[in-house]
Amino acid sequence: MSLTNLAPAYISAIAPYQGGKPISEIARQFGFTEDAIVKLASNENPLGMSPKAQIAVQEAILDLARYPDGNGYALRQAICEKFNVLPQQIVFGNGSNDILELTARAFLQKGDEVIFSQHAFAVYGLVTQAVGATGVVVPAKAFAHDLDGFLAAITPKTKLIFIANPNNPTGTLIEKNLLKAFLQQVPSHILVVLDEAYDEYLSEQHKSEAVSWLSTFQHLIISRTFSKAYGLAGLRIGFGLMHADVADILNRVRQPFNVNSLAQAAAIASLADHHFVEKSYAANQAGMLQLTQGLEQLGLDYIQSYANFISFKINHAVSVNQQLLERGIIVRPIANYELPDYLRVSIGLFSENQRFLQAMALIVKDND
Ligand SMILES: *Cc1c(COP(=O)(O)O)cnc(C)c1O
Repeated sequence: MSLTNLAPAYISAIAPYQGGKPISEIARQFGFTEDAIVKLASNENPLGMSPKAQIAVQEAILDLARYPDGNGYALRQAICEKFNVLPQQIVFGNGSNDILELTARAFLQKGDEVIFSQHAFAVYGLVTQAVGATGVVVPAKAFAHDLDGFLAAITPKTKLIFIANPNNPTGTLIEKNLLKAFLQQVPSHILVVLDEAYDEYLSEQHKSEAVSWLSTFQHLIISRTFSKAYGLAGLRIGFGLMHADVADILNRVRQPFNVNSLAQAAAIASLADHHFVEKSYAANQAGMLQLTQGLEQLGLDYIQSYANFISFKINHAVSVNQQLLERGIIVRPIANYELPDYLRVSIGLFSENQRFLQAMALIVKDND
């Protein structure tokens, strides 16, 4: 008997999450030094983290023998002030993926249906499968969430809906009024997780107002992360904002010390460093222009993105990805998102974007 048969069938059927390849792995595999590699594969902040957060981490290191504050008191205060919510409306996660998983673990059981979009973030399907619930995939419309399709997919078994806004890997954005109208039509016994991992990269005009909707929509869970614009992906910290009763349930399945003390210290300092987030936003705007203009010059189509990455169309995507790796450039193939003719490139520093575009120019010419 195979050991994998010990797991329930819905567990052994899970296809593991494929992340961006680590720099160290590509360095080993192709014989590069690590600093010769450009990684534009995981939507990380190319500016790194806030210098204020670095100082906070250095101070917090001195206290690592102690358990972290399991309630995250100081960070909770900081988030209350910034988002104008009550302390009991916040749940902390070991990355925002933890919030997605806690929601699935706390509310779903076998037989429940969970709705999400084609081309949506892979973790929605994974956390659904991990608890034996059934994922219902709504076909995308012009690469974006089809909210009417979501409403049509609701059945008596529907328990949870995942929405990424902007979405990864397509970068598409749902307009605020449409989203609000959608929430009004979703029955209140169905939870809606609104994943706003890239909100800091939106212009003022597009930024989410969903926090102000929490008092109206008690079935809404907003998920936020420090992994993207705040540049703390390696520390693993995110949080959810929701009705206090929903938070109470999530906290029952949350591990007591799921967010470590370095992450808490860095997050507090990061929230206070407005300058760093503004700088990251501006750098992303400039890089977006550089990359979209570069792709256009190469005659390549891309999906218009509101985030810090772009998915572009390319013939022989598997081979082009390999040719980029051979030149020390890591991007993300997204065939597992049903986009086999696309590659996703994160927006990097000016010089990194340039190296990517120069490599693409050579590859496109060679493959002609
Ligand atoms: C990157 C990303 C996240 C962030 O995950 P963390 O666990 O917070 O690092 C969440 N949702 C989407 C759609 C993402 O692309």
